[in-house]
This record gives sequence, structure tokens and C-alpha cells, in this order.
Amino acid sequence: SDKKVMVSACLLGEQCRFDGGTCTNQELKEDLEGVELISVCPEEMGGLATPRPRARIVGKDGSADGVDVLNGEADVLTHEGNDVSDAYIRGGMKTLDLAKSSGAGLAILKSNSPSCGCGKVFTEDFQNLREGDGTTTAILKNAGIHVVNDVDYHEALDQYKEK
Ligand code: SF4
Repeated sequence: SDKKVMVSACLLGEQCRFDGGTCTNQELKEDLEGVELISVCPEEMGGLATPRPRARIVGKDGSADGVDVLNGEADVLTHEGNDVSDAYIRGGMKTLDLAKSSGAGLAILKSNSPSCGCGKVFTEDFQNLREGDGTTTAILKNAGIHVVNDVDYHEALDQYKEK
């Protein structure tokens, strides 16, 4: 197949996670065998170093469900309170450019991350999850790219391969 799938680099074993670790998803890697992959780490693409301070999306009126960085309802803040929203948005825009130029129509991104999270992201205290998308996921979805997370990707991947 000539179809390309965009994937969070940490799922493929890249040591790009905030703490310098990886989030290798072996089942996903096996399911993607034979598929051309576009590996992305939106936080690194946004200019952030690895390792970097851990961050999460914080609503300006508290960490409410569904708040969005793109419409100004929320900021991406490090655990020390620094606002890194610009880097997260920049990384998301670069990821979108790459999705468009490569023709990837499906993105499988790391769950719960403030950039790659899809459907759920960490709460302000990092202890729980709330409804919402990471900044990159929101940017890709707004542009019509199908985004799923690395837990619930099976149906979307099967359909994409068959299309
Ligand atoms: Fe990079 Fe996304 Fe993985 Fe975070 S979740 S390390 S931004 S690819």
C-alpha cells in the first residue's frame, strides 16, 4: 500500500519523551508493519529540548473538560508554571504541514499527552485524565486529518488500510 500513517515518534521507540524516555507500543509497531510511517515528535518540532519540563493544558478558569489552547481558553504550562503554548502550537502547525505534504490521512498519536493526546489529556495535577485533545491533535483534526490514539486505533487503521 502507498498509504502513509503519521505516528508519534515515542510510540516507535524514539527517546523523545519529556523525560528522555520512550513509550514504545510493540503491538502498534507490529500492526504498522508494511505501512509507510511519518514519525513525528511535535514537541521537538516546536523547538523544545529533550529532556524538557513536563507540561499540561490548563484552562484559564481551571482545568475544565474540553478547554482548547487554540481558541485561547487554555494555556500549556510546565509544572513550574512557564507558558509554553507558543512552542506547542508551532509544533502542531509543523506537524500539520508534514501531514499535508506527505499525504498522511491518518495519525496515530500518543494518548494523554498535551500535544499528542486524543480524546483525553492530563488534568492540571497530572493525577487524572479529562476530556480534551492535545494541541497538535486539535490542529490536525481542525484540518480534517483523522486522529486516533495508540490504544483505540485498530478499527481506524484497518479501515484506512482497506480504503
Ligand atoms: Fe513527542 Fe508526542 Fe511522544 Fe510527546 S507524546 S514525546 S510530543 S511524540
